[in-house]
Amino acid sequence: MINAYAALEEKSKLERHKIQLPDLKENYVSIEVINCGICHSDISAIDNAWGASSYPLVAGHEVVGKVSKIGSKVTQHKVGDTVGLGWHSGYCHICEYCQKEDYNFCSNTKKTIFSQYGGFAEFVHADEKSVISIPEGMDLDKVGPLLCGGITVFTPIIEFGLDQNFKIGIVGIGGLGHIAIKFFKALGCHVTAFTHSADKNKSIKIMGADNIIDSTNQDELNQNQEAFDFILSTVNQKLNWNTYLNCLKPRGRLHLVGAALEPLDISVFNLMKGRKSISGSPVGSPKNIKKMLDFALKNNIYPDVEIFKMEEINLAVEKIRSNKIRYRAVVRW
Ligand code: NAP
Ligand code: ZN
Repeated sequence: MINAYAALEEKSKLERHKIQLPDLKENYVSIEVINCGICHSDISAIDNAWGASSYPLVAGHEVVGKVSKIGSKVTQHKVGDTVGLGWHSGYCHICEYCQKEDYNFCSNTKKTIFSQYGGFAEFVHADEKSVISIPEGMDLDKVGPLLCGGITVFTPIIEFGLDQNFKIGIVGIGGLGHIAIKFFKALGCHVTAFTHSADKNKSIKIMGADNIIDSTNQDELNQNQEAFDFILSTVNQKLNWNTYLNCLKPRGRLHLVGAALEPLDISVFNLMKGRKSISGSPVGSPKNIKKMLDFALKNNIYPDVEIFKMEEINLAVEKIRSNKIRYRAVVRW
């Protein structure tokens, strides 16, 4: 039995709880957890907001740790290696997407917090393909949030070939959004932050944003018609998406990574008139996580983190719920 912090029922506070991990599979790695970031998806899992949770639920999918044990068929990792784990903890290995190492499109992925016990625990198990070697020299206190938050906002850069010629808008400057500002600035883009929290403005400027717009102010949004090539939303609430489409130049794209539950109410005419697109994407493949970590290391990009002791995890969760965290919580044993 090992120690973990678990939600014992929907929306409950996390409690120190003993869990039994299954026997280690032959292609799996056991990771001794050093620390773990807290993503808003963990909060949604604790609350069963997506109807996918079962209890006791051990969330945590931005794990940094050391390999403590390997299965008999593991070839990529060895005991003692410093590694990380994100949203996915396993893949089917036989589908066309797994064959192409496009693992995050595998329709049979295992999720670190839904298919098994996650990272708010002393140990976590994962398929070696989903386990990421952390490049030497990275700041281990800050690397965890890159493994879900970071890759989620880096994936569109790869998928859509974004570069310095794209004028970018980032909506929602939380865990994901603030990393996105840093990535796009490092790419050389003009970046506008859309926030509904004026008290974030000073730190958003320090992150490098060129401009700040109130994400909920209709007048301000209307003044920015046809201003952007690419708008990335990290907000988990319904916004006025038609207004955001109006903020795109012809051929522009509104890309959603925030898990807003309400269906989109998009005018087709709004898409047609400027050949605009709307899309979404899930985290990213391990090969792209590696690219993202190399990019972060090269450009010295890390999330702004608030570090909590593991036993203070409920304090961290509360700060995230109230949008007071600046900008990612990391819990450490
Ligand atoms: P977060 O740190 O809580 O940030 C979300 C931000 O959204 C907030 O900081 C806030 O930014 C903005 N926001 C919140 N409520 C709002 C409202 N009512 N109106 C306008 N803006 C609002 O969360 P996160 O960890 O970055 O995660 C963001 C979303 O991405 C979540 O839904 C999460 O589940 C999802 N996610 C998706 C993937 C994926 O693979 N696609 C991966 C990870 C996370 P401002 O204060 O700046 O307005
Ligand atoms: Zn996440």
